[in-house]
Amino acid sequence: IVHWSPFVVSFKKHYPWIQLAGHAGNFKAGEYGKILKKFCQSEQQCLEWLNRDSLRPFVPGYYGVVEKDGETYNQMEDLLSEFDSPSIMDCKMGVRTYLEEELVKAREKPKLRKDMYEKMIAVDPDAPTEEEHRQRAILKPRYMQWRETLSSTATLGFRIEGIKRADGTCNTNFKKTKHREEIIRALEDFVDGNKTILKNYLARLKDLRSELERSDFFKSHEVVGSSLLFVHDASGLAKVWMIDFGKTVRLPYKQTLNHRTPWIEGNREDGYLWGLDNLINMFVNLVQD
Ligand code: ATP
Ligand code: MG
Ligand code: MG
Repeated sequence: IVHWSPFVVSFKKHYPWIQLAGHAGNFKAGEYGKILKKFCQSEQQCLEWLNRDSLRPFVPGYYGVVEKDGETYNQMEDLLSEFDSPSIMDCKMGVRTYLEEELVKAREKPKLRKDMYEKMIAVDPDAPTEEEHRQRAILKPRYMQWRETLSSTATLGFRIEGIKRADGTCNTNFKKTKHREEIIRALEDFVDGNKTILKNYLARLKDLRSELERSDFFKSHEVVGSSLLFVHDASGLAKVWMIDFGKTVRLPYKQTLNHRTPWIEGNREDGYLWGLDNLINMFVNLVQD
């Protein structure tokens, strides 16, 4: 169901808007400089709160709910509009990309899934256990957890979802990009080895980290499946924003996360800050090289 190819949507005559991840048809043009994303209540609540939070400089502006052609959308700032021929990267943050509640739900009616077994052996014929091979099927929670070990999600706390460079080349085939060295190479290629851009990104990431460490919003939410959107252009302007809050959920009253503690089912930790630490370390290495 998930499409991994990027969608180039021409909003205005000369302005191609790029969608690196997500489902085709989830987005539409909004008013000038704004985009519409299919309505999702948790996303609306997050964007409303974040637009009043100290994290405001790091999230898209939010402009309310809009109806168009019988569909409901959240209207938000188009983060690409201040750039000229931007290069774009989407990094999905955290050590897992499903909510704890999704794992619980997947376990409720344990059903052996042939389709998931097939998908697993297509990627790695040795991944199933002997029993799974015998049944030629696996359980969904097992599949969900295995999938996170393919990329750097489980081991580094983030993964690259897609990169589109200003020259038009585009890569959304990072599903199995797992090792530090591969990611560093991809980052270097993304910025074309430009040190100014690397430094600007690094400064922005460090600012974001300090704000996250202070934010009440961040403390009180499980942040899963959310991305950092990196955007730069030839002028050297390079910025990073948090996007995609469809799976960002409020914790019960007074419960908090530090986003660095390893995840053990039940503690709801998402590894977001741990992943950001790892990402920042890679930018530090690249700047020093
Ligand atoms: P998924 O849950 O599969 O990651 P989604 O349907 O929730 O996808 P998003 O992740 O929010 O969609 O966005 C998909 C892509 O659209 C991003 O990778 C980015 O390229 C683009 N995009 C999203 N929001 C913005 C924005 N405010 N400004 C510019 N581009 C955006
Ligand atoms: Mg996303
Ligand atoms: Mg999403």
